[in-house]
Amino acid sequence: MPFVKINKCLNCGIAHEWLFEGPTLRELRLIKKLTGQSGKEYMQSADDGDPDSLAALIYILHQRDKITVPFDEVDLDFADFDMVETDQEKAEREELEKEAKKVADAKWSAKNGPTRKVASPRKSAATE
Ligand SMILES: [Zn+2]
Repeated sequence: MPFVKINKCLNCGIAHEWLFEGPTLRELRLIKKLTGQSGKEYMQSADDGDPDSLAALIYILHQRDKITVPFDEVDLDFADFDMVETDQEKAEREELEKEAKKVADAKWSAKNGPTRKVASPRKSAATE
């Protein structure tokens, strides 16, 4: 999970920067109550930019700072919102991308490539 940055928050007017390494159990329960989604499903929809999921994220992050914003009023200026990968995440993502490329290359040459050796036909036992 990345750094979440807001320069001028529409909810409280200040600048935020949270290191969000994932929700705690209490936060997960809250997220479930707010969005009806649990763990993985929630993370996926937040990644996809689902508005309720993002609102829940902004909501729990504010709670971490002891700021309570009514959930229905949570607002966000997308132009002012940034999720920045940590260095470790960046390294992990690049590693994953490398792996994915290897797999894709292997698939491609399996399908198209002349680089694979064709197995030589087996001699039949009768000829020996
Ligand atoms: Zn705020």
